[in-house]
Amino acid sequence: MRKKIAKIKNIANLLKPEIRRLKAYSVDESPARLKMDAMENPFPLPDEIRQELAEALKSEQINRYPDPSAAQLKMSLADLWGIGTQRMVLGNGSDELIQMIVLAFGGPVLVPVPTFAMYEIISKTLAQSVVAVPLKKDFSLDADKMLKKTRDVRAKVIFLACPNNPTGNRFSDEAILKILNKANAIVVIDEAYFSFSGKTFLPLLSSYPNMIILRTLSKIGFAGLRIGALTTSSKLINELAKIRLPYNISTLSQAAAVVALRHKNTLNRQISLLISARERLYNALSQIHSITVYPSEANFILFKTGTDAAYLYEKLRESGILIKNLSRPGILSNCLRVTVGTPEENNEFVDTVKKILKTV
Ligand code: PMP
Repeated sequence: MRKKIAKIKNIANLLKPEIRRLKAYSVDESPARLKMDAMENPFPLPDEIRQELAEALKSEQINRYPDPSAAQLKMSLADLWGIGTQRMVLGNGSDELIQMIVLAFGGPVLVPVPTFAMYEIISKTLAQSVVAVPLKKDFSLDADKMLKKTRDVRAKVIFLACPNNPTGNRFSDEAILKILNKANAIVVIDEAYFSFSGKTFLPLLSSYPNMIILRTLSKIGFAGLRIGALTTSSKLINELAKIRLPYNISTLSQAAAVVALRHKNTLNRQISLLISARERLYNALSQIHSITVYPSEANFILFKTGTDAAYLYEKLRESGILIKNLSRPGILSNCLRVTVGTPEENNEFVDTVKKILKTV
């Protein structure tokens, strides 16, 4: 039988123009000995917890759909973060929660730049306009400009990553409060790096019904499980819950996270280790003349090279060390971002940078 070929001439013309114009989010998948590009926790799960995990997963029934309300997982997250289970919507990573927020409120979406790229990418895939307000030179938030733009464009949602990715700083409470107090919009405080800053807007939840807080398990050891959570006022939580797809957290992710979160001591130990490793890494990089290092309250550090950042990035890659090259014209020119690794990884990273820049 001859195969019939559909007669649509240019099938891509059927796509929405906004989608055709987009470039997919690219992840550098090159294999690396030291993976220091994606803000993952470098410590693998200890063997005894892996054993417990294997036991738990063994009894899961993957022929059935997952628990749609992820009740047990919500209890574990409530215990970890002090967020009430009734006030929680879970996402397949916080990326999915960002998508739910833009689906629910639409745009224009207002973001400071530079910030986490997915706010813009997700908004554009949903055909919503994005308005960017540059951060000040010291990476602080220009609250007045943000507020003016919010009014001018009638922004519906403002995303504030706090600490901010890729700059690593926390915006001042004063600037954020100014926006929360005056913006007639949803203000999303993305606390993806909360564990490394220890500071949160959670206690203010009842004062600001337009505030949404995002958290994720990705940065503290469980990026592979894809679990994020949002919390907000009682008015909004049920509205956002309507948008969530019914089985968005897989059975295996639910079960694995419940086991992993039983070991809060291990988790907390790793987080404190990473915080002190971050400080040592910051100091070590600060001592390299041709590099400017920016203070960080997250698990990564942004730095600017005096020479071509692409050269350093490539040379590191040749040595098996993968970091993120963020260099582009403007405030991030010649900027690179390194994720805090184990103390040994950080030492090797600094030694290699020194060798490449010939400052040893
Ligand atoms: N928010 C911020 C600020 C991030 O940097 C990231 C990850 N790079 C995310 C959210 C997404 O995290 P996930 O989808 O893994 O929860």
